[in-house]
Amino acid sequence: PVVSSLMIVPRGTIIKEETTGHVIKDMSDYEPFIAAKGGLGGWGNQHFATPTRQAPRFAKNGMLGLELDITLELKLLADVGLVGFPNVGKSTLLSVISAAKPKIADYHFTTLVPNLGVVRVSDGESFVATDIPGIIEGAADGAGLGHDFLRHVDRCRLILHLVDVSGREGRDPVVDFEIICSELKSYNHNISTRPQIVVASKTDLVCEDNDNIERLKAKALEYGYEFMELSAVTNSGVQELVYKTWNELKDLPEVKIYETEFKAEEIRYNPEDTTVTIEDNVYIVEGHWLHRLLGSVNLDDYESNMYFEKMATKNGIFQKLVDAGVKQGDTVIMYDLEFEYVE
Ligand code: GDP
Ligand code: MG
Repeated sequence: PVVSSLMIVPRGTIIKEETTGHVIKDMSDYEPFIAAKGGLGGWGNQHFATPTRQAPRFAKNGMLGLELDITLELKLLADVGLVGFPNVGKSTLLSVISAAKPKIADYHFTTLVPNLGVVRVSDGESFVATDIPGIIEGAADGAGLGHDFLRHVDRCRLILHLVDVSGREGRDPVVDFEIICSELKSYNHNISTRPQIVVASKTDLVCEDNDNIERLKAKALEYGYEFMELSAVTNSGVQELVYKTWNELKDLPEVKIYETEFKAEEIRYNPEDTTVTIEDNVYIVEGHWLHRLLGSVNLDDYESNMYFEKMATKNGIFQKLVDAGVKQGDTVIMYDLEFEYVE
């Protein structure tokens, strides 16, 4: 499909070249960006022109714009990603620590879009947290919606891994914790090495004789992670978690911005790919290399003109016309340029 218009993308969208997957631009800086420049067109070609001929195809030709197949991938920019099974209290926590108003409900898969919230620590100190929904067992392989969301963890500097310790749904927190860890790992090894704070959630619901918190804590420490516990309902442990998170972030690298790996200006075209087609006795010469050469010269200018002829000759463009059978006086069209062939 030809997209030739202005498109507004969410901050954090990454433009990639489709076939190689190379990054063209990480849209994280609020700056507008032109992924593929449109046709140049507009310069006069009187120097070569014969009294105009009006075949529609030629009239349409003009200067082609650059053609690129691209993919757009959103990777949210957040310092902290809240991960964990559905229903463990991620959205609730985000709504308690920030002004974000995520949907909260006592059933699974309530969140369809990751929510972003700014968490204020103290005057002038804040971090951005996002609530990553939908991660379940098999998410990395495409189960549920988790796969669509896991990529948002990519840029997070720190993971807050929430585990429901209430035992309310008959789940074992240690098992849940390990399942999510292995989902992160199978999605992307880099994510599995990201620092985590393991957060036991819904502590208000834990019965006294339950050892869920202790067992989860032991497991988290075994993995080398920090451990905290909280209840978003009673607010116990929430502020401590915010401070702890802030402290951890101080020592962690900045949010990753993807480097450009692919520059459209650097595409190298081959003059040999130039084609000559004959339509109604008119020789139409086309190809990316030629197109770019024409775009770089001003044919109204004598020296520029000479340069064009020299380059086109040297790279076999006129030879291709000869091979195609061009004769003295035939009309040749190279994009905007139309002229009579002179032997
Ligand atoms: P998410 O799917 O991880 O985003 O979970 P939600 O934040 O939507 O919460 C799921 C359910 O758990 C909701 O009914 C919340 O009210 C409830 N919940 C969240 N945090 C707590 C908590 O600390 N204690 C209790 N008792 N319930 C909680
Ligand atoms: Mg949620």
